[in-house]
Amino acid sequence: MTDWPTREQWAEDRRKFPRLPDGWQSMQPSNAGYVRHHLADYASDAEIRAVIALLEQAWRDLGREVRAAAPHSGAKLEASAKRRDVNDWTKQLQEEDASLPIYSGRRLKREELLAMVPLLGQIEARYTTACDAARIAWEQWRDSVAIVDVSDEAWAVELERRQAEEERRRRRAEELAAWDANREEWERQRREEAIARGVATRARRREKRFQEAIQALRNNALRPADHCRCCKKPLIDPPSIARGIGPECWEHVLKAVEREQAA
Ligand SMILES: [Zn+2]
Repeated sequence: MTDWPTREQWAEDRRKFPRLPDGWQSMQPSNAGYVRHHLADYASDAEIRAVIALLEQAWRDLGREVRAAAPHSGAKLEASAKRRDVNDWTKQLQEEDASLPIYSGRRLKREELLAMVPLLGQIEARYTTACDAARIAWEQWRDSVAIVDVSDEAWAVELERRQAEEERRRRRAEELAAWDANREEWERQRREEAIARGVATRARRREKRFQEAIQALRNNALRPADHCRCCKKPLIDPPSIARGIGPECWEHVLKAVEREQAA
């Protein structure tokens, strides 16, 4: 079981690290408080597509400016640099997890960008509003946790939370153990099946070798060998070596032949 902090330690930790409200834990902290940064939280798919279409139009317009400008002129370099900026933003906005704020200025000025794509300004304004609200919420929360509750009631809640957590961990451990047991059982079955298949295969091969030995006996084609042609055991006595079949297998072969003759 877990070594939970003592009440004194718990109270001290609470003063040092107050717990964030639940909704904030999934958000990115920033100096504006806890706020969502995903573009998709502030703009619909259609709006994002419209912004991208406008940027693509701006990219084509700047292309015309580049081509129209005199070679190596300042105007040509300027237009090329702006065009690269537009291209970078387009890519940024097309990414699955595009985040705000979009603008990180290089050559193209923010006013120029927003003049080309006013909708982007509206979207960023929504984000700014969210940041303001988040900052206010953050400041309120920070002021409220300055008085940390370490009362008997808060301690009772903490003990309940610990109990629930212990229970959750115990169930998880049980699930894992059950899963392990199932896996062991499954692997045991698989091993047994593999062994059974091996036994069947070996029996089939031995039977085939008996049939071949019987055929060889009929055809007078038995040959000397140092291992039994039926069971592969090494042969020691001269008669066995001479026919290439050990005593036990020889008996089996002779009985089979007798049975066939009787039939
Ligand atoms: Zn044998």
